[in-house]
Amino acid sequence: MASATRPTTWLVTGASRGIGLEFVRLLVSFPEHVESERGERLHVVRMDVSDFDSIRASVKQLEPILGEVGLDYLINNAGIITEDTAFTLGPEQLMDILRTNAAGPALVSQVCLPFLEKGTRKVVLNVSSTGGSIATSDQRKDKKYTSYSMSKAALNMLTVKQKAERPDIIAVTLDPGWVKTDMGGKDGLLEPEESISNILKIVTSATSADSGKYLRYNGESLPW
Ligand code: NDP
Repeated sequence: MASATRPTTWLVTGASRGIGLEFVRLLVSFPEHVESERGERLHVVRMDVSDFDSIRASVKQLEPILGEVGLDYLINNAGIITEDTAFTLGPEQLMDILRTNAAGPALVSQVCLPFLEKGTRKVVLNVSSTGGSIATSDQRKDKKYTSYSMSKAALNMLTVKQKAERPDIIAVTLDPGWVKTDMGGKDGLLEPEESISNILKIVTSATSADSGKYLRYNGESLPW
């Protein structure tokens, strides 16, 4: 996958712990995913995806890393959750979640577009949730995460719009499954490695025919 002269490049948001950290751990441990002739395989970029100035400022840090080689895979993973319901949610908290989980990924994708254009793969993976599925919402026992579900439904729509606007980019929205992380809790059904190793297979083999899809970590389609 990686050529001898050009590294395959990934940008993962929210990589300090949980799913994002597991992405990075697997990527740096498998040379078939990342290969750099320069020997610099990992760069840490400071970015708060809920702070639009911070996202815009990150371009200065990204330019020396990606300016020449471009970006192959953007993983919009950073996210937050809170327990609330439709008739109890706080509007300020809803705005915080929408800002982090939907507006943030939209702006990160925008500022990364010039890098993606230079990349070979041009993949944007938006890490969503089954909570964003409107079609299955009634079947879900758990009604507690209203703001979060609204934000992931917005992220799903962003993916569809990204695909429609840029057919040259492969935009996918994907539920990682219930993963044992700080967010998922210890009762999660999946170890991070199981979820992310599957997701890596999906994104590295994705083609333009997959763009605009809403998938589970195992490749199954999710109803919108
Ligand atoms: P965690 O809470 O374990 O980790 C969240 C990560 O996102 C941390 O690295 C955190 O950084 C980062 N983050 C949060 N807010 C911001 C911000 N404003 N700017 C930059 N980074 C930020 O969550 P998971 O790893 O479990 O979740 C990752 C993604 O997967 C989320 O989008 C989540 O919605 C989704 N998901 C997770 C599921 C699960 O079962 N775990 C199920 C379905 C979806 P910091 O350490 O600085 O707070």
